[in-house]
Formats: sequence, structure tokens, C-alpha cells
Amino acid sequence: VRSKLYDTIILGGGVIGCSIAFNLAKKGQRILLLEKGRVASQASSAAAGMLGVQTEMEENGPLFELARKSRAMFPEIVAELREITGIDSSLIRKGMLKLALQEEQIDECQSILEWQHSKGEKAVWLEKEELLQKEPCLSEKILAALYFPNEGHVSAPDLSNAFAKAASYFGTKIREYTEVRSLIKDSGAVTGVTTNGGDFYGDAIVVATGAWSGGLLSEDINQSTVYPVKGEALSVKAEIPLLTRTLFSKGCYIVPKKGGEMIIGATSRAHTFDQKVTVEGISYLMERAKELMPVLAGAEISSMWAGTRPMTNDGLPFLGQHPELQHLFVATGHYRNGILLSPITGKIVADLIADAVHPEIDLTPFSPTRHRNGQEVMLR
Ligand SMILES: Cc1cc2nc3c(=O)[nH]c(=O)nc-3n(C[C@H](O)[C@H](O)[C@H](O)COP(=O)(O)OP(=O)(O)OC[C@H]3O[C@@H](n4cnc5c(N)ncnc54)[C@H](O)[C@@H]3O)c2cc1C
Repeated sequence: VRSKLYDTIILGGGVIGCSIAFNLAKKGQRILLLEKGRVASQASSAAAGMLGVQTEMEENGPLFELARKSRAMFPEIVAELREITGIDSSLIRKGMLKLALQEEQIDECQSILEWQHSKGEKAVWLEKEELLQKEPCLSEKILAALYFPNEGHVSAPDLSNAFAKAASYFGTKIREYTEVRSLIKDSGAVTGVTTNGGDFYGDAIVVATGAWSGGLLSEDINQSTVYPVKGEALSVKAEIPLLTRTLFSKGCYIVPKKGGEMIIGATSRAHTFDQKVTVEGISYLMERAKELMPVLAGAEISSMWAGTRPMTNDGLPFLGQHPELQHLFVATGHYRNGILLSPITGKIVADLIADAVHPEIDLTPFSPTRHRNGQEVMLR
């Protein structure tokens, strides 16, 4: 006997699944969220939490537009989550610096500056002297920088846990240590899931299992189109704050958190679920970080970790409804930007499921089956 206790079942308790759960539960839906381990224990707690629209994206395209909309949602969503849960996601908006260390990067940065201005985004060119005035601990070797005052960052683990707690507040049932093994299908529709804790049925099923989504979706989208990209990172602490703005350069970024803590990230290795923190990975990051800020040689190491980013073949996330399998929705493949994209993803998917429309954004470029029929869009 099937008991449909839930309107929507969400698979995966990372920032994406929890944001969708929060948005749907707030609309009054009965939600079940299934997580194979602990909520917010994978990529979403490994992230540095940068909200880097202008630093991360270097050309026009659907991802840039999506990211801009999502970044704009942060002040309100962080305040709302704090109000409901008491968890402060530590939104800091002091800007980011895209650094030029070689002559050719100056030209690259200049063309990004023009493009950003044409899109109405704030971007300021800083010569070395101006840069060192703003950030006196930077290396003399840095030639110049592009400054994006509207960029910022949050605490990724706090934001993810706040979404989960707020989803619970609106009635979401969260089952941890429940691993989804397969989707239950019935005449062209997905009706439920099989797990290590029994079968569950719902009117809509959302796959938000991050880098692990390929396995669950193997028959329904091309499995090889979602894959893991390992990233290692560390955090260090100085006696006094050494940095105000986030530094972004090729191969290394430094994010100044509360209390003099700085996150240094991140390495990148595709096609592995291995989460070992290696001497090679961490020493690479420490060398890069010292090149940007020599003073870091004296900083104390707080912790080191690794996480697994969900990547797709063309770098765009999978967002939306499966075109043939009814009731199946996909929200994954956010790669380096899942924290940044979590507010808009939660809203889009919740609107699609509960209201059957999303007027604001064209989801065609994000179709979960775009790789299958030669429609691949190489827009990023
Ligand atoms: C080192 C590092 C730094 C990063 N920095 C940033 C940054 O600065 N800014 C930014 O925006 N993004 C950043 N990211 C990317 C960001 O972390 C991801 O894009 C985002 O966390 C993806 O969220 P998710 O919910 O899809 O995945 P996850 O957080 O991995 O969540 C997926 C969840 O699904 C669960 N799951 C998997 N399979 C099953 C199953 N079969 N049944 C039940 N549950 C299952 C997993 O246990 C997991 O908890 C970074 C990532 C890394 C690794």
C-alpha cells in the first residue's frame, strides 16, 4: 500500500536541497528531505562561501544573469533565516579583488572591466599604489587589481544549516542517514524512492544530491554529464586582521572571515570522490597564498579539509523538470558557485513545483537533458 504523505521529496541535504525544502515548506507543502549522511556535511560545508559573480564569471551568459539575481537576494534571505533560526550566516560585503600578477592579466582584467561596466556592474581599476593603500599586507609583486565592491561572502556551513533549520521550522521532515538507492517509476512518471530505510512516495521528487547525482540519474540523463571535482582548502588565523577584501587570483583565493580567520582555497581535481587532504594540495595553496600575502608565513593553521563539487560538462547547473519523466526535478551541478546560487535555485525550483511556472528566468540553457540530444550549449 502506498502512502503519499509528502507533496515533495527532496534528495540531498546540501545547501541546494535545503534551500529548495525551505522555499517549498514556506509555501505550505509537506516536504521530506532525505540525506545519506548529515545535513550540510559535504560540499556545502567545504565551501569558502564567496558570492563571486563578477570575480568568477568572465563573460555574458545565462549563468552570469542567474548569479547576479542570486547575489542580490542575500541580504534579505540571510536576515530572514536569522530571524527564523537564530543562525547568522555572517554576510560580509566588503568586495573582492581580482589580482593581476602578470602583464597579460592586466589586459584580461581591463576587458573584464569594460564588460562589467557595460552590464551596469560596479568595477574599479586599482593601480599597485592604490591597492596597497587599501590592503597594506599584499605583496609588492602584484601589479594591479580589479575591485568589485559589491561582492561578498557568507559562512557556507551556517547558511546551509540555517536553510535546513528554517525548512524544519516550516514543517519539513528531515531524515539523516537515509541513502536513496533508486527512483521508483510508474508509467513514465517518478512516484517515489527506494532507500536503506524503506520506500517513500511523493507527488514530486527533486534530485539535489550534488556530485553524487550521476548515479541516481544514470538512466534519465547522461550519467557522465555530472561529475565530481575535488577541492582542498585550509583556514589560517592571524593575531590581528590582515585583510579586509577577498583576494582572487589564478589558482588561489583568500577570504577574510570573522576574527582574523582566513580561508585559503582551493585546489581542483576532476573525476574523483576521494576527500583526502594531501601534502601536495595544501602546500600548493600555502605557497600561492604566501606569494599574495608574504605576511601569512607567520599565520597559524586552524584547519584543513576537502570537498566534492558537482560539475557538469558545460559548467552550467541542471535546473528544472525532466522533460519526459513526470514529477522528476533536478537541481545540481552548481560546481564552484552552489552557495552563491542557493537562494535563486531554491526559489526557481519551488516556484516550478508548487506553482508550475517560473516567469522570471528562461531555464532552457539549464535543461537536465541538454547534453543528450545534441543541444549542448557552450555558454560558459
Ligand atoms: C573547497 C570548496 C570551495 C568552494 N567554495 C565556494 C564558494 O566560495 N562559493 C560558492 O558559491 N561555492 C563554493 N563551492 C561550491 C559549493 O560548495 C557547491 O556548489 C555546493 O555546496 C553544492 O551544493 P549541493 O547541495 O548541490 O551539494 P552537497 O553539499 O554536496 O550536498 C549534496 C548532499 O546529497 C547527499 N547525497 C548524495 N547522494 C545521496 C543519496 N543517494 N541519498 C541521500 N543523500 C545523498 C550528500 O551526502 C550531500 O550531503 C566550493 C566547493 C568546494 C569543494
